[in-house]
Amino acid sequence: AQERYTSIRDKPAETLCGTNISLTMNAGLMADLPSLDNSGADGVGLFRTELQFLVRNKVPRRGELAALYGRVMDAAHGKRVIFRTLDIGSDKVLPYMKPQDEPNPALGWRAIRVGLDKPGVMRMQLQALLRAANGRPMYIMFPMVAQFEEFKEARSFVYKEVERERQLGHVLPESLEVGAMLETPSLAFAPRQFFEMADFISIGGNDLKQFFFAADRENERVRRRYDTLNVSFLTFLEQIVQRCNETDTPLSFCGEDAGRPVEALCFAAIGLRALSMRPASIGPVKSILRRSNLAEVKEVIETARARGDQSVRPAILDWLTKES
Ligand code: PEP
Ligand code: MG
Repeated sequence: AQERYTSIRDKPAETLCGTNISLTMNAGLMADLPSLDNSGADGVGLFRTELQFLVRNKVPRRGELAALYGRVMDAAHGKRVIFRTLDIGSDKVLPYMKPQDEPNPALGWRAIRVGLDKPGVMRMQLQALLRAANGRPMYIMFPMVAQFEEFKEARSFVYKEVERERQLGHVLPESLEVGAMLETPSLAFAPRQFFEMADFISIGGNDLKQFFFAADRENERVRRRYDTLNVSFLTFLEQIVQRCNETDTPLSFCGEDAGRPVEALCFAAIGLRALSMRPASIGPVKSILRRSNLAEVKEVIETARARGDQSVRPAILDWLTKES
């Protein structure tokens, strides 16, 4: 199926109206990296770092992690790689972590909450990332940030480690950007200062949708109950785009929905300019974007919204059928 898209692999994801959308890939293993060239991705928009922690029966060592992150950057040949710090806890239990008996694990002690409360592992990981850069640009992103204070605190850990590296006489990254995942509705309403401080923001749509609709992403009975193209959710995403535009904060979307062509098209129509997805989705998403005029898509969305449709999907599918 991938061969269908090889002809556009080296072409930009440029819409008929001339808007460029950056398409990057999600990864989590060294083995994912060859897909960077095969898929034509602009870089790695989300490198999930959990796996290296999950496959062992003890915390990986700093040197080991630094070597691995360095190899990931080598394999990216200078394209940007955004490393997400450990997103663990609750359902993703580390074998060597005391199991937490939590009534609602998705709402529990996870990700950055663990990192801030017990910073040892997070600090070690940050050191590994700074060393992996070895003079190259470094991009670090924190998961599950729910309020400005958490981001501020996590970010200050990064700069403390930078200072420590400097004192140790180690090579520092050529540049450093620290971003946040927007996966809880609360963060969308954070003060303007949060949007100014974040070097970039990436919408974690899987979690954001789960929390927006109060529907567990792991629960088969409810996980598909609410459409991503539900007007309420799209309107919410649009507001996030506007807030980021006000402060010129680069915004991307890295949940699974970014890799679904119809969803990706609607995200672009409401103003998203960067999408990160599994490598196999880059071709199909690029293909639909290159065939579309975003102003027309936006109009279909507006009409559906004004009519009171629950989801814009029927209207978009109808329009796509007529277009082809
Ligand atoms: C997300 O929540 O959309 C996301 C990209 O992170 P994960 O799926 O790893 O929670
Ligand atoms: Mg998430």
